[in-house]
Amino acid sequence: MAHLFNVIDFPALSRMTGIWTNSTHDADVGDEVALAQLIVFPPDQDPVVESDFLCGHLPFHVGGFHGVFPDGQGWAVVLQKASAATSMELMAASESHWVLVDAIDRALRFNYGADAQDWFAATRELLLTIYHRSGADLDVVEDWSVTELLWGLLAECCNVPLVDIVDGYAQECAFPGREHNCQGDVFRDVFALWTTRALSAPEPDLDEIFDGEPSPEFKRWTRKQLKKFKKRDLMQMAIADGWEPADLAGAPKDVLITLMIDGQTRPPGVQ
Ligand SMILES: [Zn+2]
Repeated sequence: MAHLFNVIDFPALSRMTGIWTNSTHDADVGDEVALAQLIVFPPDQDPVVESDFLCGHLPFHVGGFHGVFPDGQGWAVVLQKASAATSMELMAASESHWVLVDAIDRALRFNYGADAQDWFAATRELLLTIYHRSGADLDVVEDWSVTELLWGLLAECCNVPLVDIVDGYAQECAFPGREHNCQGDVFRDVFALWTTRALSAPEPDLDEIFDGEPSPEFKRWTRKQLKKFKKRDLMQMAIADGWEPADLAGAPKDVLITLMIDGQTRPPGVQ
């Protein structure tokens, strides 16, 4: 799973619907720190419109992605980076990420219904460790700016392994040997191909998501049998099978039926 999907607490079966980078960010000066922040929008707000509006008020933002929870509620993850000295020296803060947290607080004053929830804070060293653990060539990424390290994590959210992104960096192409409209840049290549839906997500491993062993007595229902149950009963059956009530809240009946019919091995809506 992509690192950002792993470290930020999303309800199971949340879906990414868009991804972007900000090319007008300030150049790195060398002591950058980074923050990825999950913002959840009120149910009546469009995550496309609201994330664009939000980022218009975030001077340190370098990119992000938006999406929807299983119940349709919109959210965005925004990535920011700033020099640690901005917090520690210019603002006399005690924490090097302070200016980034403060920027989120200020931006959210323009959208009172939006809520800052889970976050992931990083230093350049931590970002390099993430790349190293993924098997990427450290000789290559040691030269990357923090912005590029963050863009790599964003590109990984498009189902391209970090090691491939690093390999493609020097070649200025993410997909050598594959037919595509080459953007001449590994990050832009990934984001451009993702928007064509050519980078489809692997099926989620629900056993891994829910950390549970499938019961040997698990009953394989048919859709026809399940349609006879009331929605409330389907909900209780799904909870008995290990689904979190919070993840089921607002799920329509056909989604609950899909959860039950195939042994929790496929996501809702997949036939
Ligand atoms: Zn290319």
